[in-house]
Amino acid sequence: MAHPKTDAVAARAASQLEATLARLGEYLRFPAISSDPAHAGDVRALAERIAKDLDALGFANARVLEVAGALPAVAAEWMKAPGKPTIVVYGHLDLQPVKNEPWDTDPHTLVKKGDRVYARGSADDMGGWVSHLGAIAAWLDVAGELPCNIKLFIEGEEEIGSPNLEAYMDAFPDAFAADVMILTDCENPSPTLPGLTVSLRGLLELEITCESLKSDVHSGLWGNLLPDPSIALMMLVSRLVDADGRLALGRQEVPAAWREDAWNVPLTDDVIRSAGRLIDGVDRLPDHGKPPAEWIWRQPAVTVLSTSLPQPGHEKNAIRTKASAVLSFRVAPGQTGDELYALVEKVLTTSPPGGVKLTITRRGKPGHSWLYTPKGPAFEAADRAYERAWGRGLLQIGVGGTIPFVALFGRRFGDLPLILNGVMDPETGAHGPNESMHLGVFEKAILANVHLYAELGAVESLAKKG
Ligand SMILES: [Zn+2]
Repeated sequence: MAHPKTDAVAARAASQLEATLARLGEYLRFPAISSDPAHAGDVRALAERIAKDLDALGFANARVLEVAGALPAVAAEWMKAPGKPTIVVYGHLDLQPVKNEPWDTDPHTLVKKGDRVYARGSADDMGGWVSHLGAIAAWLDVAGELPCNIKLFIEGEEEIGSPNLEAYMDAFPDAFAADVMILTDCENPSPTLPGLTVSLRGLLELEITCESLKSDVHSGLWGNLLPDPSIALMMLVSRLVDADGRLALGRQEVPAAWREDAWNVPLTDDVIRSAGRLIDGVDRLPDHGKPPAEWIWRQPAVTVLSTSLPQPGHEKNAIRTKASAVLSFRVAPGQTGDELYALVEKVLTTSPPGGVKLTITRRGKPGHSWLYTPKGPAFEAADRAYERAWGRGLLQIGVGGTIPFVALFGRRFGDLPLILNGVMDPETGAHGPNESMHLGVFEKAILANVHLYAELGAVESLAKKG
């Protein structure tokens, strides 16, 4: 069974909510904006402050870590539970910029309004990992110990794409040696539905070019005899999509049980209309039996990023020499960019319209998709913990975009249980003005952590053998 003091610890954590919020507010005063070199000193000052606080909290070896050319990170550990599993908690202390954003209140001051608190980083991601400090403090206060071993790793470069996180993993392998990882920077579908992120879409960018003539020629003299590359380009793009304009290639099967659960994701027509910024008179694309969450999380998609079709203001009665488009594909979880590329290439290169000369070029850095199957005792423990704190288990959700740190953890530690959760919800507005965190979510996140440590600590089979 879980630790006998768990309920007392949970009560303590709940009664200390204001103190935990005060700690969060202090950290949020640091404008630790990683994308702006002028704030590098703030990132460092915050890292040093956190290391000092972790030491005071009872962690051993609380330290600011460095690798060459990177902003600092913080690591600390509490390893006094021999034979019990070791958890790594990952979070990030850096912030998105706030410049030129219309904030209603000071972005670097935690302000409480109604059931939310507002500040840059409140939910992304300071609230995420501070929810662990709230749980840890309560355990140490009440029980004088933690029910499992915990290592914290708080990165300072997540908001610039974690460019040196792998270098940290290589330089400080001990900081990442664990039986379970909890990655705190993800979202909940609503303040009453806790989310477990299990998939990401990847990214594939292609430029397609159609060429047919050595120079522009008169369209009155030659129209109907020569292939128009602009028309060919549009015909080729339309080959990729169905009648709704959705990518028709590379569709994925999803498990029926997952699909059933995905209908519970509160992506209602109203939410899609408002959050998706639809204009009046235009509706969202039809479901065709797939829940909206499946369309954005589990199916591949295509977007036109740019074209070199003849531009407004440059009209002339001529067939042009060539036309090109840059297309961005969201690669489905479990699908590789190469697989999707092969499908796209086959469709485009099969008899191009009018026999135009077609070139397909890959652009940019590909983003890997990720699909994870949360199975085994760690996830059963997590569901029990969330039942206690939220009144229901974790809902498996996806992310339509690409998060570099998640893909990296998935690649390096995919054989470990990876619990991707957090304190964001659809109203959070991360990366925009008036970012906020729901107070009920914060409290439930702290309580879920209290129970999660106890539940994981009680699972003997999690601890590494040997
Ligand atoms: Zn984040």
